Amino acid sequence: MHYSGFRVLKEALTGHKGWTPAWRTPEPQKAYDIIIVGGGGHGLATAYYLAKEFKQSRIAVLEKGYLGGGNVGRNTTIIRSNYLLDGNEPFYEFSMKLWEGLEQDFNYNAMVSQRGVLNLCHTDAQRDAFTRRGNGMRLNGVDAVLLDREGVRQMAPFLNFDSARFPIKGGLLQPRGGTVRHDAVAWGYARGADSRGVDLIQNCEVTGMRIENGRITGVETSRGFIGAKKVGVAVAGSSSRVMSHAGMRLPMESHVLQAFVSEGLKPVIPGVITYGAGHFYVSQSDKGGLVFGGDIDGYNSYAQRGGLPVVEDVCEGGMSLMPMIGRARLLRIWGGIMDMSMDGSPIIDKTPVDGLYFNGGWCYGGFKATPASGWSFAHLLATDRPHETAKAYRFDRFEKGLMIDEKGMGAQPNLH
Ligand SMILES: Cc1cc2nc3c(=O)[nH]c(=O)nc-3n(C[C@H](O)[C@H](O)[C@H](O)COP(=O)(O)OP(=O)(O)OC[C@H]3O[C@@H](n4cnc5c(N)ncnc54)[C@H](O)[C@@H]3O)c2cc1C
Repeated sequence: MHYSGFRVLKEALTGHKGWTPAWRTPEPQKAYDIIIVGGGGHGLATAYYLAKEFKQSRIAVLEKGYLGGGNVGRNTTIIRSNYLLDGNEPFYEFSMKLWEGLEQDFNYNAMVSQRGVLNLCHTDAQRDAFTRRGNGMRLNGVDAVLLDREGVRQMAPFLNFDSARFPIKGGLLQPRGGTVRHDAVAWGYARGADSRGVDLIQNCEVTGMRIENGRITGVETSRGFIGAKKVGVAVAGSSSRVMSHAGMRLPMESHVLQAFVSEGLKPVIPGVITYGAGHFYVSQSDKGGLVFGGDIDGYNSYAQRGGLPVVEDVCEGGMSLMPMIGRARLLRIWGGIMDMSMDGSPIIDKTPVDGLYFNGGWCYGGFKATPASGWSFAHLLATDRPHETAKAYRFDRFEKGLMIDEKGMGAQPNLH
């Protein structure tokens, strides 16, 4: 079914009896050409582009829970391409360009809203670093505007300019950055993949991998063995668990990240604002809730819930930046499991097992990467060659010392 304004009107006039389910609920077949493990944003986008752009068929996505129940439906919805390093910037800009045409492409309203992402700076050194980053972005053809203090004040007069512990000195703005309704991204890709013949199999946990003579022949699941010529793993926070089925130990740790939503308020925050002197970022949803987050919980965990000390820490960051939010009540809090890599950058690569491919290490910035990650992973699965913009995301960069350490934090996964 094609969604359009005309369709909404027609259904409104005929009692909404014509809507069909957005995707099927098929039984798993005995074997597929390609199996994608993980029905999050990256897995569903991969399946979608495999079918649509790379004309592959006999594809299944195996999801242990329900589609979109992982981080794709738990994040704070921010998209941006304000990276500095060459290994990252072209990839995230590719993603941004895909976001810009995504809703028309998969015929689904994902509420892509390019309302701007503003990173605040609070010291001269930070302003220098932002200037360098902005210039790096511009050299890659990406939009970047350096604002002085008055420029920031004009955009966000409610920030604490006058009695702040860390005075605002300016900010780096990416006007094309913004937010996207996160779970609609999963639904849009799911619907698009399903309509191109991809089997989306929910409640189907991958519990093992069958590997014969160095080649994968299929996966053991909670619904029995399913054969495959190729298997692509995109399970985010569960990466190390799932890849251990193939005997692999990954250069990554799993940590919890929490998200917070306040009660609905009148529109006040124009775009996304990030605090440069503490870990706090905030936007306002179309329903009026302040959507915000901060640091990860700081200990390794596979639990999809976080601890109270981080709630206090994040709210303190918010209060010091914009004291007026202390009057707003918190409505909802949840957590997701982050696949934190050693250098803070992802991996989209083949593995030593023939036919087994891996996509992960997104840390807490993988939502904005969803379209490019899906496209690049599909490219790798279909052609056995890395996509132009994802060439640096190799496993062997750690062995070869070619780290992509955007934050300059070294091998400290919890700090990236
Ligand atoms: C609180 C929070 C805030 C965030 N904010 C942002 C943000 O503002 N911007 C941004 O860019 N990124 C953000 N992120 C990060 C982003 O959400 C993730 O990097 C990205 O969603 C991960 O990819 P995914 O969507 O494929 O993961 P997921 O949605 O987690 O998908 C992985 C899927 O694999 C499934 N799975 C796991 N094990 C198995 C198995 N054995 N068998 C079958 N299926 C399995 C899981 O059930 C899950 O559905 C945030 C994350 C969190 C938690």
